[in-house]
Amino acid sequence: MSDGQADIGVLGLGTMGANLALNIAENGFKVAVHNRTTSKAFALRDDNPGIGDNVLPTETLEEFVSALKAPRLVLFMVPAGKLVDDEMARVTPLLSPGDVMIDAGNADFNDTVRRSTAVEATGLHFVGMGVSGGELGARHGPSIMVGGARETYPLLEPILAKIAAKYEGEPCVAWLGPDGAGHFVKTIHNGIEYADMQMIAEIYGIMRDGIGLEPAAMAKIFIDWNTRGLASYLIEITAVTLAETDPETSRPMVDVIVDEAGQKGTGRWAVIEAQKLGVGATTIEAAVSARGVSSHRGEREKASALYRDVEIETSRFGDEADDIAEMEQALETAKIIAYAQGYATMAAASEEYGWNLPLGEIARIWRAGCIIRSRFLDDIAKAYDAGSVVNLLQAADFVARVAAAQMALRQVVAKAALVGIPVPALSAALAYFDDYRRARGTTNLTQAQRDLFGAHTFRRLDKDGVFHHRWPAV
Ligand code: NDP
Repeated sequence: MSDGQADIGVLGLGTMGANLALNIAENGFKVAVHNRTTSKAFALRDDNPGIGDNVLPTETLEEFVSALKAPRLVLFMVPAGKLVDDEMARVTPLLSPGDVMIDAGNADFNDTVRRSTAVEATGLHFVGMGVSGGELGARHGPSIMVGGARETYPLLEPILAKIAAKYEGEPCVAWLGPDGAGHFVKTIHNGIEYADMQMIAEIYGIMRDGIGLEPAAMAKIFIDWNTRGLASYLIEITAVTLAETDPETSRPMVDVIVDEAGQKGTGRWAVIEAQKLGVGATTIEAAVSARGVSSHRGEREKASALYRDVEIETSRFGDEADDIAEMEQALETAKIIAYAQGYATMAAASEEYGWNLPLGEIARIWRAGCIIRSRFLDDIAKAYDAGSVVNLLQAADFVARVAAAQMALRQVVAKAALVGIPVPALSAALAYFDDYRRARGTTNLTQAQRDLFGAHTFRRLDKDGVFHHRWPAV
């Protein structure tokens, strides 16, 4: 295959691929593009005057690969799963040793490890790269989490550093580790995103059903919160969505939207991987489950009728200003706990797979471009920079913050429970915190039960070794 002039090729011109290709082109790189529907490749060039000069549309895969400079960088941006394997199989015979295939979709990291092993054995390279920021991020600056063969990073870095989001001038991109490291980190990013969004929705639920606020009034509160500790993209867009009016009915937009949330799988993967690693990512799990429950709307409507008359307290939320201040503190505290769980999952994976994940660097590249971007991530980066962190809940700054605000979380969860407003992620955060800070837990009883019914043995507090007790026959 002859050498072409394009710096990189993008295969798959959907929402993400097209925008990423334009971002690359706008930053002065020549990008060859290819798509199943080839007209999209030509439209990308023709519909974007100026930028389009750097876009090289191609009709066939052969044309696409020959348009690339060696070593060739082929970036796949197609839906995760078998399609990635199929597209890679079509491209592989056209490549030469040293060329790099980059899967920039939301892959299951287990697939990335498998692909990485298979591809590296052939003399080609494979990079699993998480890209966050949605459509706008892809177009103007995403956060990019790179995993794969270390030696490929110098080839990618000049392009990625230009197209990535910048936080105070620093590009939000880094090589995070071999094989599946980048996609694993992206999965946990999305898991944290699920938890963050669910906890915001729970606070919205209290504002709506516990206090009786209108969306426009809530929007003002979120705008205010966005000036302090909670300042983040998700809080900002919450205010925007709450302030929006439906042009058809003139009602608040959120009031006409069906309460059934979709999911594509990354939140579920995060929970599964946390479970496999023995880490309690309970806020993420609560968020994934809440989306599942939300999808059974008809069933919920029937249950609502069945339990209409159960005894619950009618009012626990009193003074509005105090309640709002308490909720702000509660959300901040629960957010710290959710991030602690996400980071604990990454730390465990790093240990298990020998990745040596740079946890502080991960916080740094999440500060801009991605959906969970926030000032708060700068605090996490500083905590990791200050020294080794076992769990964020043990980092000095966070210990002080959680200790000062945990009562607000307790109050909000307790009041919500009494008036029957579900707060699964907020209460999961509180339960995890109480479990985590308790020196003497209750699994001594679990161990006793296990030893009784299955002779699973236990360890004793007063001496070393493993013991089995002759329990009375039951
Ligand atoms: P889209 O659905 O917008 O685009 C899919 C692309 O894949 C199109 O180019 C489409 O071609 C191509 N494609 C689909 N099916 C086939 C097939 N059978 N054979 C060949 N080509 C096919 O997806 P997105 O751009 O939204 O997502 C791409 C990846 O990025 C996914 O892994 C997603 O999870 C991830 N991602 C998405 C984000 C988002 O906000 N959308 C954010 C971060 C990551 P054609 O034009 O011919 O249909």
